[in-house]
Amino acid sequence: MFFKNDKIVLIKEDFDNYIGNIGHVNNTHIDCTNNINIADNTDALVKFSTGGKVANYYIQIEKDGNRIVDLSIPRDNLLSIEDLTVVKKELARQIYSILSKNTGKKMPWGMLTGVRPAKIPYEMMEKGMTEVEIISELQNYYFVSPKKASLAYTIAKTEKSILERNTRDMVSLYIGIPFCKSRCHYCSFTSNCIDKNAYLVRKYTDALKREIQMINEDILKREKLKIQTIYIGGGTPTSVSNEELADLLQFIENTLDLSNLEEYTLEAGRPDTIDREKLITIKNSKVSRISINPQTMNLETLKAIGRSHTPEEVKEAFYLARDIGINNINMDIIVGLPGETLSMFEHTLKEIRQMNPENLTVHALSIKRASKLREELDTLDKHDKHKNNSHLKDVRLNKNETDNENYAYDKGNSECANIWESRLFVADETANAMVDMAYNYALSMGMNPYYMYRQKNIAGNLENVGYSKPGFECIYNIQIMEEKQTIIAFGAGAVTKVVYPEENRIERAFNVKNLENYITRIDEMIERKKNIWTQSGRM
Ligand code: SF4
Repeated sequence: MFFKNDKIVLIKEDFDNYIGNIGHVNNTHIDCTNNINIADNTDALVKFSTGGKVANYYIQIEKDGNRIVDLSIPRDNLLSIEDLTVVKKELARQIYSILSKNTGKKMPWGMLTGVRPAKIPYEMMEKGMTEVEIISELQNYYFVSPKKASLAYTIAKTEKSILERNTRDMVSLYIGIPFCKSRCHYCSFTSNCIDKNAYLVRKYTDALKREIQMINEDILKREKLKIQTIYIGGGTPTSVSNEELADLLQFIENTLDLSNLEEYTLEAGRPDTIDREKLITIKNSKVSRISINPQTMNLETLKAIGRSHTPEEVKEAFYLARDIGINNINMDIIVGLPGETLSMFEHTLKEIRQMNPENLTVHALSIKRASKLREELDTLDKHDKHKNNSHLKDVRLNKNETDNENYAYDKGNSECANIWESRLFVADETANAMVDMAYNYALSMGMNPYYMYRQKNIAGNLENVGYSKPGFECIYNIQIMEEKQTIIAFGAGAVTKVVYPEENRIERAFNVKNLENYITRIDEMIERKKNIWTQSGRM
């Protein structure tokens, strides 16, 4: 049996012959160990070794100096990339099953650690496999749980019906407005405080317009590309003033050919950035879908995660949008927020069901490096975690002493940051129960799952799922996730992806994240995009 502090070491020197692939094997391996929470500082050992160019692979696990697993996977003729891929997959399977047996743990997604689990059933469908065959392979080969196998299949099927309509001349556009009222503690997006940076908004939108204008002339028009969807995200685009928003929306409509447009989303994520004027501006534009994101309908959690709005403001914004005639609204919520119980999560779902949006996106909390929450948790490892972490303290102070159900934090004085951290955040079982509950509520609202992705360090090792009522699936979300269509992206931190489906190849152009750099280096951002087109032979 392994314990939390057991250490698994990958001996990689023996992979010298395949130096270019070590990272991938490592990643697979590390992901496997992360899945079962085996952290640093211990005495178990996994070794992979090769016996020259024709490789023999070994997995050895030692604990307390004794070899407890010694498994060899001899293979011949492993020199081609395809063969290496097979070997890596086989290694991942072996490692997963060894560790699963030793820990008694089974992960919901089995050995799958990738961002897009629906890609696998999608590819199987393209090969002509039946539903029964696909679900059986997901369960038996990849160790995916029956529930997740069925979820992945359902999503792949919906995605296929939308992606089959793709043609080579169709693209989607992403436009980033990287301003927000305040920074949520879990946020890792490009986001700048609107109050501190108000003086930069006009300069930013001028640069953005220049980027859109130039790319429209030099790529979209010249290549005769058809815009299928537009997504204005951020940040929170509605953080800017009504005049600035109206000006940008007008510019987009005056500049771009929107005759093929099927969907146009604007993130109005934070309800404290929405008012009647802005909603009327949106309604009068070609925008066809907006997002109003509560994340949770519990006030104490909103405070704890740095959201400067109340649940009542979410409802007011939602009903105002309805009143003005906006009939396609998405709402985002998060599973596993600090201090949330199952009953608090259910409260959020009940409130959302009452509002009855067309889309519900359920994220499992993922604590990324760039987030304030991660920084603070790292600090907790080093310092006294009970003194200087005001928003985390809020979670403790708001705890209802009598509500003990799955409560993530227990007012103890544990000196161990790991224990404290694991109590602050919901347990895997609770996160699982929340995800199941969200699924059932979504079905009860007449919705079905239509897109999904996973992230590192995600609560319960689960997934983010988009649900929608029939006919309201967000095409852009599917396109960006399945990477089957070119996305041209504008704004600070935006990433353009040029997709070559026949060659299974994607070229990327990155815009700088820093606002001032983006403004002053706008011509360089434009050139970067034009370059990937010329270099890849599309122009
Ligand atoms: S609203 Fe979204 S982009 Fe803005 S700070 Fe919060 S998570 Fe980040």
